[in-house]
Amino acid sequence: MSIMRKMRESPELRTVQDPDTPIYSIGTVARMLEISVFTLRMYEREGLVLPHKSASNQRRYSQNDIDRLKCIRQAITEKKFGIAAIKTIYSLIPCWSILPCFKEDREHCEAYANHAQPCWAYRHVNNICASRECRECRVYRDHSDCRKVKQSIMNISPAP
Ligand code: SF4
Repeated sequence: MSIMRKMRESPELRTVQDPDTPIYSIGTVARMLEISVFTLRMYEREGLVLPHKSASNQRRYSQNDIDRLKCIRQAITEKKFGIAAIKTIYSLIPCWSILPCFKEDREHCEAYANHAQPCWAYRHVNNICASRECRECRVYRDHSDCRKVKQSIMNISPAP
């Protein structure tokens, strides 16, 4: 029986309704996506995905994390995008408009001034995001689906 089928048929997993609940181990996700644990760790280092970390530092991935990873894999294998290109695309998500944040917030924000990586990959100090948990932020959470990234970029509105 395939691992996907086993997971679908698991009574324990069927009870999990929230796609943001972190339940899958890194090994399970690697098997599901047919990639290595090393690759998953590299995506994390590059800021493409933010898995949940337990108190004992165990990574756990949600269904939305898996959807995000599928999107990343598709961009790499089918569109031949590199990691840098994917990071640039994520950097275009208009977080300042989604939050929103204002002129004085943006003055202290590296993510607003640059476009080399997603906003959640920066170390925010002294700005509106310094005390935020990016994994819980809608800028991160709402963009696990590639179509949503495109839609947000298309709907971009002038900075307040
Ligand atoms: S909290 Fe994190 S994900 Fe949300 S806008 Fe700030 S940097 Fe981006």
